[in-house]
Amino acid sequence: MNVAIVTVGDELLAGRTVNTNASWLCERLHERGARVERVVTVPDRVGDIAETVDAYNERYDGVVVTGGLGPTHDDVTMDAIAAAFDSDLELHEEALEWLTTEGGYTREGLTEGTAHLPRGARALHNEVGVAPGAVLESVYVLPGVPGEMRAMFETVAEEFAGERRYYEEVLADEPESALLERLDELQAHFDVSVGSYPGEGVRISIESTDAETTAEAAAWLRSRVDGPDAESPSTRD
Ligand code: ATP
Ligand code: MG
Repeated sequence: MNVAIVTVGDELLAGRTVNTNASWLCERLHERGARVERVVTVPDRVGDIAETVDAYNERYDGVVVTGGLGPTHDDVTMDAIAAAFDSDLELHEEALEWLTTEGGYTREGLTEGTAHLPRGARALHNEVGVAPGAVLESVYVLPGVPGEMRAMFETVAEEFAGERRYYEEVLADEPESALLERLDELQAHFDVSVGSYPGEGVRISIESTDAETTAEAAAWLRSRVDGPDAESPSTRD
């Protein structure tokens, strides 16, 4: 399953907010076996959001949108989703019902428009905040506030699936260039994907669809690099 993530918000583009929603969603989707192919950030502008969601809905099996849900003037995501589906916003009775029963709000206490969703949407309840999310076809619209987004994503996580991948990390206290031959050898021996990420030392990621293959490959490499888990040079082959 291929997925695109669309994060919405001028403040993300201005660098005032770090886009932790994108990295959290990438991690959760990846561990479920869904393949994230795009992460894009768009401003709080109906045309830009609608155009991106429309294009990605055609192209990917799932689209996750976060941010800009509330009924305030700068939150335009639901308008944009409605536009992308040639639909309108209308009061979603079930979303309102949930807010006034489970959510603990009174109908009068809710800001006008809070329970308005694009026509035909499935409502996603907000256990942490107020604004409901929505699903249209395979477009999932979630809040921007990280705690709300995470809780709501977990209610639909099962809908994102793929072949599970097993991951291990090996730390090497050597220059990246010195590792090249061993990384080639690793890939020749084991059916795994290997990534190498230099920083303080080198982080080597090993991943495959088989738990045992990943574990064996990681053990093989760990015994051949200088790192926290390395055996002393005298005992290494
Ligand atoms: P609300 O209904 O509370 O207004 P919302 O769904 O409309 O929520 P936004 O208005 O887009 O969400 O963002 C609310 C707050 O959530 C932002 O001020 C920011 O702190 C945080 N936020 C939004 N998007 C992200 C993101 N991609 N990564 C991390 N934090 C984010
Ligand atoms: Mg908002």
